[in-house]
Amino acid sequence: KKYGSPAPTIFSKIIDKSIPADIIYEDNKCLAFRDISPQAPVHFLIIPKTAIPRISEAHDDDAPLLGHLLVVAKNLAKKEGLSDGYRLVINDGKHGAQSVYHLHVHVLGGRQMQWPPG
Ligand code: 5GP
Repeated sequence: KKYGSPAPTIFSKIIDKSIPADIIYEDNKCLAFRDISPQAPVHFLIIPKTAIPRISEAHDDDAPLLGHLLVVAKNLAKKEGLSDGYRLVINDGKHGAQSVYHLHVHVLGGRQMQWPPG
């Protein structure tokens, strides 16, 4: 399946285990690991094993995979003890302040979040 900007990122290396990460969950479609620069007491990322560069480049028929990422997010949030709530974030592109162009869902919790974000 073709995506607009298929350059491999550091997350591909985490998927193929050629660089280490603190992996908390893996299945045949996705991988979850702790963010190297946590912005909350709990901060992990969920990435599809298919290297979709960004949410804006996902295809409509990626819907089951995108839904799976959210289901894994809520299951892991529960497992991580985030019973007071948490935040899910997907940054897209320049205005979204995306830095790694391999789609990822941030899960942040363990402290009070603020809204609106900066
Ligand atoms: P973005 O700004 O693209 O939404 O978020 C990318 C996230 O990936 C950042 O929170 C950053 O700390 C995290 N990150 C970047 N490189 C690595 C890495 O090599 N390992 C891990 N575990 N996280 C990373």
